[in-house]
Amino acid sequence: RIYLDSNATTVVDPLVKQAMDPFYCQMYGNPNSLHRFGTETHPAMSIALDRMYKAIDADDEDDIIINGCATEGNNTVLKSVFMDTLAKGEPCHIITSQIEHPSVLKTCQYLEKEHGIEVTYLPVNKDGLVTLDSLKAHLVPGKTSLVSIMWANNETGLINPIKELAEYTKQNGVLFHTDAVQAVGKIPVSLKEVPADYLTFSAHKFHGPIGVGGMYIRHGNTITPLLHGGEQMGHKRAGTVNVPFVVGMGLAIELASQHLDYIDSDVRRLRNKLEDAILALPDTIVIGDRKYRTPNTILASFKGIEGEAFLWDLNQNGIAASTGSACSSEELEADATFQAMDMDNNLSHTGVRFSLSRFTTEEEIDVSIEVINKTVQRLRAISSTY
Ligand code: PLP
Repeated sequence: RIYLDSNATTVVDPLVKQAMDPFYCQMYGNPNSLHRFGTETHPAMSIALDRMYKAIDADDEDDIIINGCATEGNNTVLKSVFMDTLAKGEPCHIITSQIEHPSVLKTCQYLEKEHGIEVTYLPVNKDGLVTLDSLKAHLVPGKTSLVSIMWANNETGLINPIKELAEYTKQNGVLFHTDAVQAVGKIPVSLKEVPADYLTFSAHKFHGPIGVGGMYIRHGNTITPLLHGGEQMGHKRAGTVNVPFVVGMGLAIELASQHLDYIDSDVRRLRNKLEDAILALPDTIVIGDRKYRTPNTILASFKGIEGEAFLWDLNQNGIAASTGSACSSEELEADATFQAMDMDNNLSHTGVRFSLSRFTTEEEIDVSIEVINKTVQRLRAISSTY
């Protein structure tokens, strides 16, 4: 079996699993308990948090709130900004983009429809990127409450010009959030360079466990919690802290940071090898220029072949890939990014995403190339549109 779906989730690094293990049957106390079972978890938790601060180059004064996933982080930031404007009796205007993950898009749509806020969905340019010009055209100082733009896209891997978007937003006194789920662990992320107020990430995208995420809050900013209850996370996110997950996410993010060079060189080389082989097939395209993409991602379109049919065939041959958006892959919707990039509608059902990780081997790529070649030939031979 070959796993080429690392933008959906990643294999847990065995070192991460090993680090988590003692916190299930030995040091299993509730960190909020005052007895030793509780307090003995504190050093590991604080090491884990330090690792997170370091990995995203945050300041000691800033906050990182541990939560259940990036979906929760994104919901919290967007709903918190809405609640704050509501409390102040001000109108709420959020600027986001058309290519955000559903955890941002659907939350914005919910706030728009159910609470009457104004949302601007920025389009992308022909390269699939959100541009500073389009932000400039829509941001209204004194009116816009929040700009929320993803750092890197989950479907294409395209990396937005996040530094300039954040800088412009801040120069105009507006809050800036970035969903960095597909950036953290793949490309350098520095909150000293990018003046974001909020940033969200998720452990399972960088070889940590599924079900734990982080929400960064820059010093001086507030957050209205989504969950009320206990006093955990400085009253910003109630619920007993999942110690093994925090420990796992801490080590996973540190290991991911240590492997950034490897991803940039070796994973990129394997990705390019696979991409070159795909592009050598006739009537095949890959979305987005390589120079703007995370080093592990390919979103390809094969003329005359339905993405779903292709995936089924690949799966039969032991290869796991995905249509553009794994999170909504049960719905046979035209791929959001293709739509936003205003591409030929015939292409919009054909996107197949291959996403590698530092655990992907050269042999796996060689086998995949062979299988992809054969599958494309076979499916085109029976295609009514090719
Ligand atoms: N944002 C992006 C860009 C993603 O790719 C994903 C997951 O696919 C999420 C948010 C949601 O992350 P989680 O699974 O932690 O809720």
